[in-house]
Amino acid sequence: MLKRLALVVLLAALAGAWYLALPTRALSLPPLPPGLEEPLRGAIHVHSRRSDGTGEVGEIAAAAARAGLDFVVFTDHGDATREPDPPQYREGVLCIDAVEISTSNGHVLALGLSPAPYPLAGEARDVIEDIARLGGFAIAAHPGSNRPELRWSDWDVPLAGLEWLNADSEWRDESGWSLARALFTYPIRTTETIVSLLDRPTGTLRQWDELTKRRRVVAIAGTDAHARIGVRSLGEPYVNGSSIHVPSYERMFRAFSNALPGVTFSGDAAADAQAVLAAIRAGHVYATIDGLGGPAVLSFTATSGTATAAAGDVLPLGGPVTLRIAMQAPERARMEIVKDGGVLETRTGAAVEHVVEAAPASYRVEVLLPAAPGEPPVPWMVSNPIYVGRDATDAVPSDTRPRPSRFAVQYRDGPVTGWTVETSPASLGALDVVKKVSGTQLSLRYGLGGAASSSPFAAFVMPAGSELSGYDRLMFTARANRPMRVSVELREPGGAAGERWHRSVYLDPTEHEITVYFDDMTPRGVTSRPQPTLANVQSILFVVDTVNTPLGGNGTVWIDDVRYAR
Ligand SMILES: [Zn+2]
Ligand SMILES: [Zn+2]
Repeated sequence: MLKRLALVVLLAALAGAWYLALPTRALSLPPLPPGLEEPLRGAIHVHSRRSDGTGEVGEIAAAAARAGLDFVVFTDHGDATREPDPPQYREGVLCIDAVEISTSNGHVLALGLSPAPYPLAGEARDVIEDIARLGGFAIAAHPGSNRPELRWSDWDVPLAGLEWLNADSEWRDESGWSLARALFTYPIRTTETIVSLLDRPTGTLRQWDELTKRRRVVAIAGTDAHARIGVRSLGEPYVNGSSIHVPSYERMFRAFSNALPGVTFSGDAAADAQAVLAAIRAGHVYATIDGLGGPAVLSFTATSGTATAAAGDVLPLGGPVTLRIAMQAPERARMEIVKDGGVLETRTGAAVEHVVEAAPASYRVEVLLPAAPGEPPVPWMVSNPIYVGRDATDAVPSDTRPRPSRFAVQYRDGPVTGWTVETSPASLGALDVVKKVSGTQLSLRYGLGGAASSSPFAAFVMPAGSELSGYDRLMFTARANRPMRVSVELREPGGAAGERWHRSVYLDPTEHEITVYFDDMTPRGVTSRPQPTLANVQSILFVVDTVNTPLGGNGTVWIDDVRYAR
């Protein structure tokens, strides 16, 4: 009898603890205010079994359909050389194929690009340039990850977008206790449990606000759904199989979504995918944490004189600016207008008008709920900014360094002296002087062979000479028989293979004049200093390797007019 009583008390205590640990139930919303329309919603950044996810595209689409989503942007890991699957409707959900590329500065989602002619990899500045050249849109994935190798580390590159929220990063920064509690409450309030692990990504939001003071940068919420809790190995390829399929795709899709106001679907998958990608590029997208309540609707527009803009747009200045925010939200929701990263105004209510001065600034809106989880609490809704009085072209700052006035020619016409070829064991390289319309040029032929693990390369090596240290850049004209990247390297003696610093350059069948600034170079492998000491440099190398050239790849590069300049 006593034993049974003790058991009952124990069970009651467990039930009580479990109940107290339960995350708050999602809010129910008031009806949609007049004038607001339900947007299309979707998940961006989803992995399938093609990389390290656990579901097939069809299963994932079905999960998205059950969660009420209209589209899914798949981003399996890759180097962008694979032809993306054409957009298709599965289970009524538009499936768009994109890719997540690993760079040496973090992972980047590339949406809407045509297949790359060579593997995209290496430094972020080069991958971003390649994505733009291929017509794609680059979004920094999990930029604020607490794992250094996954964190974004180059904020000077012209990123088109970033993930202000990434569910995978959010899992990783939780304590053992909150993860244990999450497993405990997951079976009953699954979506709320997932959401209970979210915090405000303060650093990433601050970084975004810094960038949008200067140019347009679109922020989205990245699901990063794999449908697994597993031990992920550090690099790629990821190991499949040994993981629990929790949280499921459906539950992740119910936790939060990206809303695209103003987009309607025609049923034609190709046209609809274009519309989705165009809306994301334009920043016509806001994120909602649906596991807290909703999915809710938010509208953010602004007018100045006769001009009107929606979130994501540039608003030309034509007098005082009126910001208009409307939303479907419970009374306790708090709306914050963020101006250039600082909170300008806090309001409650379903519709707000706020007049601001006629001066350039970026304005965005966050909606906060008092019961939101996290320390600090995760925002419930996040709009993209309206860029008041800013340059609509998103011009990347051009190089302001002066044109060179002094040159030291290293090769132009005639025989070549002192150059050598270095290759890995099973690779080939041949250097020849060949005729040009007038004079001669250098032909560099390469073939990369051997095992990928042996890092095959072919390098064409020019003696640096004694003049190098009086100059600040290397200039040459070059073309290649197909689009490719060549690593231009300065080598100092030291260690077994010397110390090298490099800058990757893009070549294609059209002859271009290339300029490589020495102070733009970054270490290749481990070096004793971040930059070379020019007086110590013995050789300049033109290197073709498997960073951007596939194993077995071969071709020809022609270069001419090699000179130092300042
Ligand atoms: Zn990633
Ligand atoms: Zn990912």
